[in-house]
Amino acid sequence: MMAKIQMMTPLVEMDGDEMTRILWKMIKDELILPYIDLKSEYYDLGLEHRNETNDQVTVDSAEATKKYGVAVKCATITPNAARMTEYNLKEMWKSPNGTIRAMLDGTVFRAPIVVKGIEPCVRNWEKPITLARHAYGDVYKNTEIKVPGAGKAELVFTAEDGTETRELIHNFTGAGIIQGIHNTDASISSFAHACFQYALDTKQDLWFATKDTISKKYDHNFKDIFQEIYDAEYDAQFKAAGIEYFYTLIDDAVARVMKAKGGFIWACKNYDGDVMSDMVSSAFGSLAMMTSVLVSPSGVYEYEAAHGTVQRHYYKHLKGEETSTNSVATIFAWTGALRKRGELDKIAELVEFADKLEKATVKTIEDGKMTKDLALITSLKDVTVLNSEGFIKAIRETLEIL
Ligand code: NAP
Ligand code: MG
Repeated sequence: MMAKIQMMTPLVEMDGDEMTRILWKMIKDELILPYIDLKSEYYDLGLEHRNETNDQVTVDSAEATKKYGVAVKCATITPNAARMTEYNLKEMWKSPNGTIRAMLDGTVFRAPIVVKGIEPCVRNWEKPITLARHAYGDVYKNTEIKVPGAGKAELVFTAEDGTETRELIHNFTGAGIIQGIHNTDASISSFAHACFQYALDTKQDLWFATKDTISKKYDHNFKDIFQEIYDAEYDAQFKAAGIEYFYTLIDDAVARVMKAKGGFIWACKNYDGDVMSDMVSSAFGSLAMMTSVLVSPSGVYEYEAAHGTVQRHYYKHLKGEETSTNSVATIFAWTGALRKRGELDKIAELVEFADKLEKATVKTIEDGKMTKDLALITSLKDVTVLNSEGFIKAIRETLEIL
């Protein structure tokens, strides 16, 4: 047995709920703790503990992430009415992801994990396509009016000194609808920095697209902010890294993506990112085969799985029934965080271990050993369907012989 890999700075560990909490422990016990002398600052974001601490633990975990720079997060329940009774909650606590995102001011990057035997529906996609979704504003923070009948609709901005700016939206002659949306230069700038830094970090081209030909002020503002920041701070670094930033119209981007080979980052406004990331991920196979990382402009990283707590499987597990839950996204959250910690602290063994664990995970699937969700969509023959624990143990066996 080799000596365990030593760490310098602690990783912020955010535990979570239900089936993913079960997977979390199995992953640590089988794939992390035997190999790494894990230094982590543990925050229990499980719903019971969030409730006990009045959700202070979520805030504390985000503060710790700002302090140390790298976090790994398990999927967590976002409470709704049913969860209020199920967990006897004091309050309907907000989504932890929302709280953490607001505190870290981040952009979410999601990329499919490419495995032979799980082929993308788009034949020419050879490499993953990473979606960078702006997570603030636009239609997600809208104000709407259902217009009952004839009348004048105007857009009014009142400056602090009382000066009004007005634009006519429409002179209604009958019933209709109006919507007001906004964004801020500060949020768009953070989004731009996060995208440029992530492109440099992963040495991939960055594409950005909006509809600025039609939205000459709103979308054009996104385009201009990206371009100003790129010219002022990133042009030389991109050239040195041999990567490219380019802006195009959203419809042109969609057409190009379908013909591309992959291997780039596609930055999208909030709505485009919502719609396009679901399209790209389902075309690549499954949400459980997707990495997800929140990157803040100050260079803070939070790694997670893109899927939820897999509630249905958890209830089976509680009844003592066997589950076959895919742990790949959660394993890749760990490897992403360990690799980043290794890079920041210059611990080559940690980076190598993260690479090796990812390779072992992919190889296990490519060798035909997988969970049920993948067995249903694979093109591989002679597949062995494993249960949740069996799959993690199979990865460990592969890891031991790599
Ligand atoms: P989910 O946990 O993503 O699961 C939805 C369905 O997708 C599952 O029932 C399962 O389908 C399949 N699935 C998802 N992940 C899988 C995996 N790793 N392996 C195999 N199958 C997988 O979404 P949900 O059930 O709608 O939400 C459950 C809880 O998660 C909610 O309380 C929600 O608030 C929370 N949530 C958290 C996050 C986060 O923390 N990032 C994100 C989304 C949702 P089958 O049942 O057909 O096998
Ligand atoms: Mg969506």
